[in-house]
Amino acid sequence: MSTFDSLGLSPELLSAVKKTGYTQPTPIQSVSIPKVLAGKDLMASAQTGSGKTAAFCLPILHKLQKRNPKGPRALILTPTRELAAQVLENLRTYGKEANLICATVFGGVKIGPQIRQLRNGVDVLVATPGRLMDLYNQKAVKLDAVEIFVLDEADRMLDMGFISDIRKIRAMLPAKRQSLLFSATFSPEIRKLAQTMLVDPEEVKATPENQTAPSVEQLVVPADKAAKINILHALYQEAGWSQALVFSRTKHGADKVVRQLDKLGVKAAAIHGNKSQNHRTRTLKDFKAGKITMLIATDIASRGIDIDKLPVVINFELPQVPEDYVHRIGRTGRAGETGKAISIVCADEIKQLREIEKFTRSTLPREELEGFEPDHNLPESHSNKSVAATRKPARNRNAGSGNARPGNTSAGQAGAGKRGDSGAKPDARRRGGRPDSNGNSRNTERQERRPEQASGKRSGGRATVIASTTGGRPTRSSGRRRVAGAA
Ligand code: AMP
Repeated sequence: MSTFDSLGLSPELLSAVKKTGYTQPTPIQSVSIPKVLAGKDLMASAQTGSGKTAAFCLPILHKLQKRNPKGPRALILTPTRELAAQVLENLRTYGKEANLICATVFGGVKIGPQIRQLRNGVDVLVATPGRLMDLYNQKAVKLDAVEIFVLDEADRMLDMGFISDIRKIRAMLPAKRQSLLFSATFSPEIRKLAQTMLVDPEEVKATPENQTAPSVEQLVVPADKAAKINILHALYQEAGWSQALVFSRTKHGADKVVRQLDKLGVKAAAIHGNKSQNHRTRTLKDFKAGKITMLIATDIASRGIDIDKLPVVINFELPQVPEDYVHRIGRTGRAGETGKAISIVCADEIKQLREIEKFTRSTLPREELEGFEPDHNLPESHSNKSVAATRKPARNRNAGSGNARPGNTSAGQAGAGKRGDSGAKPDARRRGGRPDSNGNSRNTERQERRPEQASGKRSGGRATVIASTTGGRPTRSSGRRRVAGAA
């Protein structure tokens, strides 16, 4: 196992690294840093959370060492403002003892101060493509002194439609330079881009392509759409997470979740493209400081969200593209920690779920939450279709009542999203199967549509539901787990 000392970094950088508390380099750092120091172009497959930012920031700081007034000598392009800010923070942390000026330019804030900063001289510039183009067109920045160019989160850049800006920026750079491309996933399109940008690159991988980090335990909670907010609340109450990052697909949806959580007494805030940059920065700061319990983010705004020890990521809605699922859940289980990624999925989202499972080459375990079993069955995904054929017939949920828990009736009455009592603590226990060693769900009969559900009626209260399901299934006890655990 390599140590930081063996990577060839300067004593100043090693001392800065030590002060951050890192004891050893992450795999992507171990393989990338010596190659970048040796002047190689790099094509790195690294997820967020792998330590990829230090993998390029540290050797850049090492190589530049001294100030040079000619203009930026390193240019780091990031897809979003948050990620740009995050990279700058890394540069400043590691480069405390280096005599270099690092700065960032991105849209959504006044351009004047950025122009002034560039005029005063910048050694390492972190930029989003749109604002960099604006500055270049206004002749506020020159790129002909760039020695090292980094394209960070290239897959996201392409998803966000930056390809033409990237091509233009590439054309502004000196032909003789070192280029590094980091991407969580490598589609044929990214490989094509890499060919036009890198010279004889070294290919390095931190995690297998298109895979999620093993440090993140993943789970799907089948749900009716209208019940999602109550399920989120129930999961939170049961687990007692210190904080959660919740993903919504749309800006409007994110704001709605905030309003609903607010009514349920949970401190939440949204971060998305309609919010001003100052608002986004402040919200993120508040979340990092623990003043906000749930941060509701859209995919675009979530880039660069790096929160220490974030215990859980919730997909309130699945993303449209499976790559985003990998990015989203990479926000937890970072830097040696473990984390949970829970997706609350309704029947309408089966297409996205199937795509995610195909993309990550895995079958996500499913567990229903007791009291919130969906009326609209979440269909099988491709990967566990064969198991569906062996499903057992539906059971009568009203059989037996010995396990009824007092005080839970109100939550049960609301079962499918009609619960209005925010104060009642629901019995947020899940049911259903974790996959066996072949990735198949053990309890797929859970996904069978039950007769009383088909009629849309939940005659019993919540306590009745628990009693009937557990009472009728003696073997179920081993498959029932509390949601919390991870917190
Ligand atoms: P990144 O993938 O660059 O976004 O980094 C994810 C997290 O890992 C950040 O919070 C970094 O501060 C942290 N980190 C980076 N390198 C190390 C390391 N060698 N040891 C422990 N944590 C690290």
